[in-house]
Amino acid sequence: MRTFAIINFGCQMNEYESDRFREVFYEFGLSEVSNIEEADFVLFNSCAVREKSEQKLISSVGYARSLYEKYGRPYVIVTGCVASIREKEIKRVAKDSLFMLSKGYELVYERVEELRRELSKILKPVGRSFTSSSGVFAYVPVIFGCNSFCTYCIVPATKGREKSRKLSDIIDEVQRLVDSGTKEIVLLGQNINHYAYDLGNPNGFIELLEAVSKVRGLRRLRYLTPHPAYFTKDLIKRMRQIDNLMPHFHLPVQSGSNRILELMKREYTKEFYLDIIEAIWEIFKEASITTDIIVGFPTETEEDFMETVNMVKYVRFDKSFIAAYSKRPNTPASTMEGQIDPKIKKERLNYLLSVQNEISLEKNKAYIGGTYEVLVENVKGNVAFGRIPQDKLVIFETEKQIQTGDLVNVQINDADFIHLKGKIADLL
Ligand code: SAH
Ligand code: SF4
Repeated sequence: MRTFAIINFGCQMNEYESDRFREVFYEFGLSEVSNIEEADFVLFNSCAVREKSEQKLISSVGYARSLYEKYGRPYVIVTGCVASIREKEIKRVAKDSLFMLSKGYELVYERVEELRRELSKILKPVGRSFTSSSGVFAYVPVIFGCNSFCTYCIVPATKGREKSRKLSDIIDEVQRLVDSGTKEIVLLGQNINHYAYDLGNPNGFIELLEAVSKVRGLRRLRYLTPHPAYFTKDLIKRMRQIDNLMPHFHLPVQSGSNRILELMKREYTKEFYLDIIEAIWEIFKEASITTDIIVGFPTETEEDFMETVNMVKYVRFDKSFIAAYSKRPNTPASTMEGQIDPKIKKERLNYLLSVQNEISLEKNKAYIGGTYEVLVENVKGNVAFGRIPQDKLVIFETEKQIQTGDLVNVQINDADFIHLKGKIADLL
């Protein structure tokens, strides 16, 4: 039997796309393997947000090509953000092993069709279907691309301009997933609170949340990633009315310095961002708050950096995804004067990580003694894991017979900076 492997880099949007490509391979009767060496086809879904994953893609394609030279397989398929910007190099490295190259700014549904067309030239469909991962939660994209042009970011160049999906298509997809057992839906967009702006509806995002939340049988609703510049107190108030919307806010702040925020073209100030945080504290007392931060943006001084550190200490984020600034081709920040020495970037990164880890530990410890609803993602013997509404991962013991997809109450009795730990209290 023919085999395929999917090597996925990057974000949740790529995970969604990779599942759609997976469905096509299944349709043609291919079976999935986890490594390139055993595959007849390898699909790389690439990420260009940082230089490192871009280099990794090119070297992985080179490795696949070396196998092809020796064994006549695997055929190489490259898609995603790197395919949008490094077409020539990918073609040079993959040579005649290249089976298909499709750009990340083409809609995933068009790229899926392309894969189907290419495979049908050499294989016959067998109609086998694929059900994604555990089926407990699923990603559903609602808006593709980005119009924001933050000066460090390559996404607008690799994914193109914003394009919202029709509300009815989204609702249909969510209903299908829920009918087949999905409990939690995570709506996706680079700038998700811009949903439907391109369709002429500035209230589209909250209307989307309200409509999706009403899908029959949906237990939990989440969304990623909102842009702070378009996040308002009114929005938070309306969110509070949605029962199955989970109390977790991922709001990328990027920097605590107004000077750097302006250079980044983030369209908000530190004060504006903190007003949103205050509104969340007031309206969603139980919510967790997480963020993304870039350290070592061009010209960032020690004072600017300390403003970011102070922001982290003041907000006390549950978790921060912290990255050292990485130069991306053709972005305004990559040619700015005052690029920061890699050693200093690393020092700032490590320092901020240590500050954040200590806060994460304290925040997680505050859950000890409480009982929280957990959506079970995996069970092995008498140990299981899943997430609480605040999106924290819990590992817990259970003597009861439970299954993936169950909602259970778990009493928390321990925590480290990554997880909570506990014991099952009851089945819900
Ligand atoms: N649309 C989202 C996420 C974009 S990419 C947003 O607006 O926040 C995910 C994260 O990668 C960003 O939040 C940012 O923190 C990080 N990132 C993007 N470009 C980067 C770069 N050039 N160097 C380092 N980190 C970067
Ligand atoms: Fe990149 Fe900014 Fe768009 Fe996010 S909002 S994808 S960081 S340009």
